[in-house]
Amino acid sequence: MAVVSYKCPNCGGELMFDPKIQKYKCEYCFSDFSQEELEALKPEEGSEEKVESYKENSEKENGEAEEAVVYHCPSCGAEIVTDETTAATFCYYCHNPVVLSGRVSGEFLPDKIIPFSIDKKQATEKFLEYVHSKKFVPKAFFNKQQIEKISGVYFPYWMVDMDMEGSMQAEGRNLRVWRSGDTEYTETKVYRVEREGDVHLEDITKNALKKSNAQLAEGVLPYDVSKVQKFHMGFLSGFLAEKRDINREELSAQVQQEAHEYGEKILRGTVKGYSSVSVKNCHLNQKQENWDYIMLPVWTVTYKGRNGKMYYYSMNGQDGKVYGELPIDYKKVWTLGGIISAIVLILGLIGGYLL
Ligand SMILES: [Zn+2]
Ligand SMILES: [Zn+2]
Repeated sequence: MAVVSYKCPNCGGELMFDPKIQKYKCEYCFSDFSQEELEALKPEEGSEEKVESYKENSEKENGEAEEAVVYHCPSCGAEIVTDETTAATFCYYCHNPVVLSGRVSGEFLPDKIIPFSIDKKQATEKFLEYVHSKKFVPKAFFNKQQIEKISGVYFPYWMVDMDMEGSMQAEGRNLRVWRSGDTEYTETKVYRVEREGDVHLEDITKNALKKSNAQLAEGVLPYDVSKVQKFHMGFLSGFLAEKRDINREELSAQVQQEAHEYGEKILRGTVKGYSSVSVKNCHLNQKQENWDYIMLPVWTVTYKGRNGKMYYYSMNGQDGKVYGELPIDYKKVWTLGGIISAIVLILGLIGGYLL
């Protein structure tokens, strides 16, 4: 498998994708290049430098061969040790960014990518803004020094579009109650309600990496898909990247079930004007589905709390939305908890008097 690093056409320094300018930037001579410019300079290979690495097959304990995890850095020749899913990383010795091309080609070639639009500095600022805005976090708890690690990672996802044909039969009821003299009359009108239509669902997004925490991976969704681009390996340069190890078949049943639930909700939502509705029958027939393998930009943040506990966060690399567990100041929560139960109690009393 080839290890690819992107070199500056002017000075030979490493090129990295810069989210701020949405171009490749040389760390040494500060030149910048767009994707098109890079491709135009060296049409065949871009300015990639490739080094063929040895594929060392090691035997697992159970005798199964596993893929080699050792590559060689094109810049300094040092060994680069990777996980089986690593698709882009940095050389531990010379910090040269490298892309493992074999992990993002063939059947593992991503269809699409959303490039980072927030750089590390902005990500750090946005993260601190986020924690300061949280009500239950003790004021003194957060400061920049406690951010242990912040890394830009392209995570693999499946993005699914689905076309369905839906039909629903339901019963709607409207009640009218009136009084004449001593008699109370109730009129119930029962309606047969039918709905038929095409349901189109777009961008159902699912985590495609086994080792990632599904909540952290999906908590940063959704992304603005208008910024989607065709995948180019160069986007990964300067970031970490993971390749997918969850295939489409593994997710298919779950995605279909969710699509049907959404579809039913949409159909149900078109029925209005009744005091009650009960759905008798709902069918959704799938007409078409389209699956895209997409790389999405995520900043992962590891934060060490004062108690020594590690907290993990993920941030949408496009809009800075943060997802994760925050340390909670229990004193603050209890105050609010007290107010909530007081309100419930008063309501209970009013109810009691009315009865
Ligand atoms: Zn340069
Ligand atoms: Zn190196």
